[in-house]
Amino acid sequence: MSRFIPYGRQNISEEDIAAVCAVLRSDYLTQGPVIPQFEQAVAAHCGARHAVAVNSATSALHLACLALGLGPGDILWTVPNTFVASANCARYCGATVDFVDIDHRTWNLSVPALREKLTQAARTGRLPKVVVPVHFAGQPTEQQAIHALAGEFGFKVIEDASHSIGATHQGERVGSCRWSDITVFSFHPVKIITTGEGGLAVTNHPEWAEKMAVLRTHGITREPSRMLRPNEGAWYYEQHELGLNYRLTDLHAALGVSQLKRLDEFVAIRNQLAHAYDEALATLPLQRPYVRPENRSAYHLYPVRIDAAQRRRVFDAMRTAGIGVNVHYCPVHLQPYYHALGFQSGYCPEAEAHGAEVLTLPLHPLLTADDLTRIVNQLTIALC
Ligand SMILES: *Cc1c(COP(=O)(O)O)cnc(C)c1O
Repeated sequence: MSRFIPYGRQNISEEDIAAVCAVLRSDYLTQGPVIPQFEQAVAAHCGARHAVAVNSATSALHLACLALGLGPGDILWTVPNTFVASANCARYCGATVDFVDIDHRTWNLSVPALREKLTQAARTGRLPKVVVPVHFAGQPTEQQAIHALAGEFGFKVIEDASHSIGATHQGERVGSCRWSDITVFSFHPVKIITTGEGGLAVTNHPEWAEKMAVLRTHGITREPSRMLRPNEGAWYYEQHELGLNYRLTDLHAALGVSQLKRLDEFVAIRNQLAHAYDEALATLPLQRPYVRPENRSAYHLYPVRIDAAQRRRVFDAMRTAGIGVNVHYCPVHLQPYYHALGFQSGYCPEAEAHGAEVLTLPLHPLLTADDLTRIVNQLTIALC
């Protein structure tokens, strides 16, 4: 039996290991000097002013919503073609979630669908406070068009860039926040770079960065200039609001600093592998990922779409052959939790068609040319 090929996995070097070990031998295991070092490195990489590192992208999405003032009575819109966290962040804040359908070519948020839904919502007074576009599979969304609609209809934009650190849009790195309010990254091991568990929010707004930093650690401040009462000195801190413990540790951040050095290399390898797939799959009966000319994808995933009636059989045949294909995503609005909130099938037809047809092929920097040939050969057999 040949080796099992997972759909994604981390790539850890001896240098990464040494960086983590150095923290273990140092004075601080958490919230020491490596956290700001990691934050500055990511902010510099993507050209944003501020970065706040936390223990997951889920936490970063939650803090981003809190920083933008999302609360009970408010509405957040996202797409169904995403991981549940893109929607759950609103529910943590007591807000309502609604879903915008995706584009049939990019599989990202459909700008025409967004515009139409906004026009209707303006009439009924049900406009969203926040919209969360998701850079599916590593491809940025149509940020300028979404930004223009944000200005017209008065909502904030949180980019869920969990798949797309290292990608560019109009030559600009994802995370610059030129066309958004806050951008969130994930460093889960299947993502582009990893910290084990971890996430980070970037923004150009100092107040939101400050708010997220305070809420990350219980709503506590130790900053003398911010005290509401007389400062009693070294032991003194004040809790100003109800925060959480979403801190990242220095151990995780050290892995992040080290991994970030190889981000461009990882993205280059992922692009090479994706192009190799593009060529090898060109004549098969399937839809390949479409990347718009103004984008460079980070290729977190390489999803293809096949006949829905064949998907179960092809999926099983690939898994039996030791190939870790997967499905990204079963539409979030049809998850039992959201179904119970009233969402029915037929609500987002494009995302539902995608969910029924998609098959994610393995893609990660340790995938070899031989692995790729094996995957393509198995898929060719399974499809014919
Ligand atoms: C992975 C992922 C998240 C959550 O990331 P965590 O760091 O695991 O919390 C959120 N959104 C999307 C689109 C993801 O793929």
